[in-house]
Amino acid sequence: MDKHSKNLKKLILVCLAALLINILPVFSQPTAIDLTGIIDFHAHTGPDSRPRGFNDFETVRLAEKAGLRGIVLKNHFTMTADRAALAMTLVDNLEVFGGVALNRAVGGINPEAVRQLVRFDGHRGKVVWLPTFDSEFYVTRAGSGEPFVSVIENGAPVPGLIEVFSIIAENNLVLAMGHSSPEEALQLIPLAKEQGGNHILVTHVFGQDATMEQMQQMADKGAIMELDWMAVYTNVVSLDDYVSAISAIGAAHFLISSDFGQAENPDQATGMAAFILALMEAGINQAQIDTMARQNPAMLLELD
Ligand SMILES: [Zn+2]
Repeated sequence: MDKHSKNLKKLILVCLAALLINILPVFSQPTAIDLTGIIDFHAHTGPDSRPRGFNDFETVRLAEKAGLRGIVLKNHFTMTADRAALAMTLVDNLEVFGGVALNRAVGGINPEAVRQLVRFDGHRGKVVWLPTFDSEFYVTRAGSGEPFVSVIENGAPVPGLIEVFSIIAENNLVLAMGHSSPEEALQLIPLAKEQGGNHILVTHVFGQDATMEQMQQMADKGAIMELDWMAVYTNVVSLDDYVSAISAIGAAHFLISSDFGQAENPDQATGMAAFILALMEAGINQAQIDTMARQNPAMLLELD
């Protein structure tokens, strides 16, 4: 299929998903795509310093209306445990979680930022992302010359990182690899496990340029790998590559998320529905979808 028809197909999928989850229920039709029990682990919301399509409140209302079970609010620059707690007061049937990304705005690899994430009222802080847009791998690959936050220096974890891993483990948080390189992730996963952490997520593993062999190693080391819809939606990754990885390594080692929230994109529930439709059309079965969109995210967030 050429690029133009692939884009057209994705547009049709998103329209179909929006129709199925937003319009048909108004006429009391059974929805063809069932989003109950689904958790979106990667939702960007406003207010933010980047343009966002929906704020925290709009996002959780849309997610609840679509039947989602849970959503993780992610911001690259500020903690979201507090925002998740506020947003959760607006909904009755949705679990809203937040976290902190250890970029420069919170002091980089800063154990105190993680301690405060845990202590905040409502206790919705569940995910700690290693540096994302400020990661050494991301900044170096982009060649922007911006300052960055390293996770490994001279072959060893940077000061504070093992303490961060230990706070994560003590509080049963999720350690997400952010925009670390696959090599860094492979070195850090066992170190996080040594501290007692067992909820480890490799953030959009394809976006980090991991090879199939590295993904197999991440799976063997006990990490869950994230596959996001945004990368496919914006033609950065092909859906076929996701399908090959799921088939070769096993759905048990992946979770699927939207990574939506950009001002130009639809809401997260629409993204999740389009993603699921696309995967099923490509041959991924219902049990594999359940594992990646329901069970693995719930296991990481200790919802079951
Ligand atoms: Zn993102």
